[in-house]
Amino acid sequence: MRRALVAGNWKMNGSRQMAGELVSAISAGAPGVVDVALFPPFPYLTTVSGMLQGTAVVVGAQDVSEHAPGAFTGEVAAQMLTDCGCSMVLVGHSERRHGLGETDHGVAAKFLRAMDVGLVPVLCLGETLEERGANRTEEVVIRQLDAVFEQRPATELRPFVLAYEPVWAIGTGETASPLQAQEVHSVLRERMNAAGALGASTRIIYGGSVKPENAEELFSMADIDGGLIGGAALDGAAFLAICMAAGD
Ligand code: PEP
Repeated sequence: MRRALVAGNWKMNGSRQMAGELVSAISAGAPGVVDVALFPPFPYLTTVSGMLQGTAVVVGAQDVSEHAPGAFTGEVAAQMLTDCGCSMVLVGHSERRHGLGETDHGVAAKFLRAMDVGLVPVLCLGETLEERGANRTEEVVIRQLDAVFEQRPATELRPFVLAYEPVWAIGTGETASPLQAQEVHSVLRERMNAAGALGASTRIIYGGSVKPENAEELFSMADIDGGLIGGAALDGAAFLAICMAAGD
Protein backbone atom coordinates (compact mmCIF):
# COMPACT_ATOMS: atom_id res chain seq x y z
CA MET A 1 0.00 0.00 0.00
CA ARG A 2 1.50 3.35 -1.06
CA ARG A 3 0.88 6.33 1.19
CA ALA A 4 -0.27 9.37 -0.79
CA LEU A 5 2.07 12.31 -1.26
CA VAL A 6 0.87 15.85 -1.94
CA ALA A 7 3.65 18.22 -2.99
CA GLY A 8 3.28 21.98 -3.34
CA ASN A 9 5.48 23.63 -5.97
CA TRP A 10 5.53 27.38 -5.34
CA LYS A 11 7.56 28.00 -8.50
CA MET A 12 9.15 31.49 -8.50
CA ASN A 13 6.43 33.07 -6.36
CA GLY A 14 6.05 34.62 -2.97
CA SER A 15 8.01 36.56 -0.43
CA ARG A 16 9.44 35.78 2.98
CA GLN A 17 6.19 36.99 4.52
CA MET A 18 4.01 34.91 2.24
CA ALA A 19 6.15 31.85 2.88
CA GLY A 20 5.67 32.28 6.62
CA GLU A 21 1.91 32.68 6.39
CA LEU A 22 1.45 29.78 4.00
CA VAL A 23 3.62 27.44 6.01
CA SER A 24 1.80 28.29 9.25
CA ALA A 25 -1.59 27.57 7.65
CA ILE A 26 -0.49 24.35 6.01
CA SER A 27 1.43 22.89 8.93
CA ALA A 28 -1.49 23.58 11.26
CA GLY A 29 -4.01 21.87 9.00
CA ALA A 30 -2.11 19.10 7.20
CA PRO A 31 -3.87 15.77 7.64
CA GLY A 32 -1.67 13.09 9.17
CA VAL A 33 -2.83 10.42 6.75
CA VAL A 34 -0.90 11.76 3.75
CA ASP A 35 2.67 12.86 3.27
CA VAL A 36 2.96 16.57 2.53
CA ALA A 37 5.98 18.30 1.00
CA LEU A 38 6.52 21.98 0.19
CA PHE A 39 8.88 23.22 -2.52
CA PRO A 40 9.56 26.95 -1.99
CA PRO A 41 12.14 28.98 -3.95
CA PHE A 42 15.78 28.54 -2.83
CA PRO A 43 16.02 31.71 -0.70
CA TYR A 44 13.17 30.58 1.58
CA LEU A 45 14.29 26.99 2.13
CA THR A 46 15.99 27.61 5.47
CA THR A 47 13.10 29.71 6.83
CA VAL A 48 10.52 27.15 5.74
CA SER A 49 12.44 24.13 6.98
CA GLY A 50 13.00 25.89 10.31
CA MET A 51 9.29 26.57 10.67
CA LEU A 52 8.44 22.96 9.84
CA GLN A 53 10.80 21.38 12.33
CA GLY A 54 8.87 19.01 14.56
CA THR A 55 5.99 18.73 12.07
CA ALA A 56 5.38 15.95 9.56
CA VAL A 57 5.55 18.34 6.58
CA VAL A 58 8.85 18.13 4.70
CA VAL A 59 10.70 20.58 2.49
CA GLY A 60 12.16 20.18 -0.96
CA ALA A 61 13.89 22.36 -3.52
CA GLN A 62 12.70 23.01 -7.06
CA ASP A 63 16.00 22.17 -8.71
CA VAL A 64 19.56 21.04 -7.97
CA SER A 65 22.88 21.19 -9.77
CA GLU A 66 24.09 18.12 -11.59
CA HIS A 67 27.60 19.00 -10.43
CA ALA A 68 29.52 18.36 -7.24
CA PRO A 69 30.39 21.53 -5.27
CA GLY A 70 32.94 23.71 -7.00
CA ALA A 71 33.31 26.47 -9.57
CA PHE A 72 29.73 26.65 -10.88
CA THR A 73 28.55 30.20 -10.19
CA GLY A 74 24.85 30.39 -9.46
CA GLU A 75 24.36 26.65 -9.09
CA VAL A 76 23.18 24.96 -5.86
CA ALA A 77 24.74 21.64 -4.90
CA ALA A 78 22.72 18.71 -3.55
CA GLN A 79 24.52 18.69 -0.20
CA MET A 80 23.65 22.39 0.27
CA LEU A 81 20.00 21.42 0.05
CA THR A 82 20.28 18.81 2.79
CA ASP A 83 22.20 21.40 4.79
CA CYS A 84 19.18 23.75 4.45
CA GLY A 85 16.80 21.10 5.75
CA CYS A 86 15.56 19.63 2.46
CA SER A 87 14.73 15.98 2.14
CA MET A 88 13.36 16.08 -1.42
CA VAL A 89 14.03 17.86 -4.71
CA LEU A 90 12.19 18.28 -8.02
CA VAL A 91 14.18 17.45 -11.13
CA GLY A 92 13.13 17.94 -14.74
CA HIS A 93 10.08 20.12 -14.18
CA SER A 94 8.62 20.93 -17.60
CA GLU A 95 9.28 24.63 -17.11
CA ARG A 96 12.96 23.73 -16.90
CA ARG A 97 12.96 21.11 -19.66
CA HIS A 98 11.00 23.24 -22.12
CA GLY A 99 11.65 26.79 -20.92
CA LEU A 100 15.29 26.45 -19.93
CA GLY A 101 16.51 23.73 -22.27
CA GLU A 102 17.20 20.93 -19.80
CA THR A 103 17.92 17.59 -21.45
CA ASP A 104 16.92 14.07 -20.40
CA HIS A 105 20.59 13.32 -19.76
CA GLY A 106 21.13 16.40 -17.58
CA VAL A 107 17.93 15.75 -15.62
CA ALA A 108 19.05 12.18 -14.96
CA ALA A 109 22.42 13.46 -13.72
CA LYS A 110 20.62 15.80 -11.28
CA PHE A 111 18.40 12.93 -10.14
CA LEU A 112 21.41 10.76 -9.28
CA ARG A 113 23.38 13.59 -7.69
CA ALA A 114 20.40 14.24 -5.37
CA MET A 115 19.90 10.58 -4.57
CA ASP A 116 23.55 10.15 -3.69
CA VAL A 117 23.35 12.70 -0.87
CA GLY A 118 20.19 11.13 0.55
CA LEU A 119 17.58 13.41 -1.01
CA VAL A 120 14.46 11.82 -2.50
CA PRO A 121 14.36 13.04 -6.10
CA VAL A 122 10.99 13.72 -7.72
CA LEU A 123 11.48 13.05 -11.43
CA CYS A 124 8.99 15.14 -13.40
CA LEU A 125 8.06 13.87 -16.82
CA GLY A 126 5.35 14.43 -19.38
CA GLU A 127 4.51 15.02 -23.00
CA THR A 128 3.66 18.21 -24.88
CA LEU A 129 0.31 18.68 -26.60
CA GLU A 130 1.95 18.08 -29.95
CA GLU A 131 3.48 14.80 -28.73
CA ARG A 132 0.11 13.65 -27.35
CA GLY A 133 -1.54 14.57 -30.64
CA ALA A 134 1.02 12.43 -32.46
CA ASN A 135 0.34 9.46 -30.13
CA ARG A 136 3.84 9.72 -28.68
CA THR A 137 2.95 10.10 -24.97
CA GLU A 138 4.17 6.66 -23.94
CA GLU A 139 7.38 6.89 -25.95
CA VAL A 140 8.20 10.30 -24.44
CA VAL A 141 7.64 9.45 -20.77
CA ILE A 142 9.48 6.11 -21.10
CA ARG A 143 12.41 7.90 -22.75
CA GLN A 144 12.51 10.43 -19.89
CA LEU A 145 12.45 7.62 -17.29
CA ASP A 146 14.93 5.40 -19.11
CA ALA A 147 17.42 8.29 -19.20
CA VAL A 148 17.92 7.59 -15.48
CA PHE A 149 18.27 3.82 -15.94
CA GLU A 150 20.86 4.46 -18.68
CA GLN A 151 23.10 6.19 -16.14
CA ARG A 152 22.54 3.70 -13.32
CA PRO A 153 20.90 0.27 -13.24
CA ALA A 154 17.37 0.52 -11.88
CA THR A 155 18.16 -2.17 -9.32
CA GLU A 156 20.72 0.15 -7.68
CA LEU A 157 18.37 3.09 -7.15
CA ARG A 158 17.16 4.21 -3.74
CA PRO A 159 13.57 5.39 -3.20
CA PHE A 160 12.34 8.13 -5.52
CA VAL A 161 9.07 9.64 -6.73
CA LEU A 162 7.78 10.10 -10.27
CA ALA A 163 5.57 13.06 -11.14
CA TYR A 164 3.62 12.69 -14.36
CA GLU A 165 2.87 16.20 -15.55
CA PRO A 166 1.50 16.56 -19.07
CA VAL A 167 3.02 19.83 -20.26
CA TRP A 168 -0.30 20.94 -21.75
CA ALA A 169 -1.96 20.69 -18.32
CA ILE A 170 0.51 22.71 -16.26
CA GLY A 171 -0.80 26.10 -15.27
CA THR A 172 -3.33 26.04 -18.11
CA GLY A 173 -6.49 25.05 -16.25
CA GLU A 174 -6.62 21.95 -18.50
CA THR A 175 -6.41 18.70 -16.54
CA ALA A 176 -5.75 15.23 -17.87
CA SER A 177 -8.83 13.12 -17.27
CA PRO A 178 -8.42 10.56 -14.50
CA LEU A 179 -8.36 7.82 -17.14
CA GLN A 180 -5.76 9.59 -19.29
CA ALA A 181 -3.52 10.05 -16.25
CA GLN A 182 -4.08 6.50 -14.97
CA GLU A 183 -3.10 5.09 -18.36
CA VAL A 184 0.28 6.86 -18.27
CA HIS A 185 0.90 6.06 -14.59
CA SER A 186 0.33 2.38 -15.21
CA VAL A 187 2.72 2.42 -18.19
CA LEU A 188 5.37 4.03 -15.97
CA ARG A 189 4.85 1.49 -13.21
CA GLU A 190 5.13 -1.40 -15.64
CA ARG A 191 8.32 0.07 -17.03
CA MET A 192 9.82 0.37 -13.55
CA ASN A 193 8.87 -3.20 -12.73
CA ALA A 194 10.39 -4.46 -15.98
CA ALA A 195 13.62 -2.57 -15.27
CA GLY A 196 13.85 -3.95 -11.74
CA ALA A 197 13.21 -0.63 -10.00
CA LEU A 198 10.92 -0.45 -7.00
CA GLY A 199 7.80 -0.22 -9.15
CA ALA A 200 5.24 -1.40 -6.64
CA SER A 201 6.35 0.90 -3.85
CA THR A 202 7.33 3.95 -5.91
CA ARG A 203 4.83 6.77 -5.71
CA ILE A 204 3.70 8.20 -9.02
CA ILE A 205 1.98 11.51 -8.44
CA TYR A 206 0.02 13.54 -10.99
CA GLY A 207 0.48 17.24 -11.70
CA GLY A 208 -1.35 19.60 -14.02
CA SER A 209 -4.05 22.00 -12.82
CA VAL A 210 -5.05 19.89 -9.82
CA LYS A 211 -7.66 21.75 -7.77
CA PRO A 212 -9.92 20.85 -4.85
CA GLU A 213 -12.70 20.21 -7.40
CA ASN A 214 -10.88 17.56 -9.43
CA ALA A 215 -8.44 16.10 -6.88
CA GLU A 216 -10.60 13.37 -5.43
CA GLU A 217 -11.46 11.80 -8.77
CA LEU A 218 -7.82 11.85 -9.91
CA PHE A 219 -6.55 10.38 -6.64
CA SER A 220 -9.13 7.59 -6.76
CA MET A 221 -7.29 5.96 -9.67
CA ALA A 222 -5.26 2.86 -8.83
CA ASP A 223 -1.85 4.20 -9.88
CA ILE A 224 -2.22 7.86 -8.91
CA ASP A 225 -0.53 8.21 -5.54
CA GLY A 226 -1.09 11.92 -4.89
CA GLY A 227 -0.33 15.16 -6.66
CA LEU A 228 2.23 17.79 -7.54
CA ILE A 229 0.37 21.04 -7.14
CA GLY A 230 1.41 24.39 -8.62
CA GLY A 231 -1.12 27.24 -8.64
CA ALA A 232 -3.33 25.81 -5.92
CA ALA A 233 -0.31 25.36 -3.62
CA LEU A 234 -0.19 29.14 -3.17
CA ASP A 235 -3.57 29.10 -1.48
CA GLY A 236 -3.42 27.42 1.93
CA ALA A 237 -7.10 26.43 2.03
CA ALA A 238 -7.08 25.01 -1.50
CA PHE A 239 -3.86 23.10 -0.87
CA LEU A 240 -5.22 21.62 2.35
CA ALA A 241 -8.45 20.61 0.60
CA ILE A 242 -6.33 18.74 -1.97
CA CYS A 243 -4.39 17.04 0.86
CA MET A 244 -7.70 15.95 2.40
CA ALA A 245 -8.85 14.53 -0.96
CA ALA A 246 -5.65 12.46 -1.14
CA GLY A 247 -6.31 11.06 2.31
CA ASP A 248 -9.84 9.83 1.59
C1 PEP B 1 3.40 22.41 -11.40
O1 PEP B 1 3.91 23.52 -11.27
O2 PEP B 1 4.09 21.40 -11.28
C2 PEP B 1 1.97 22.33 -11.68
C3 PEP B 1 1.41 21.17 -11.83
O3 PEP B 1 1.28 23.55 -11.78
P1 PEP B 1 -0.32 23.74 -11.82
O4 PEP B 1 -0.90 22.93 -10.70
O5 PEP B 1 -0.51 25.20 -11.64
O6 PEP B 1 -0.78 23.24 -13.15
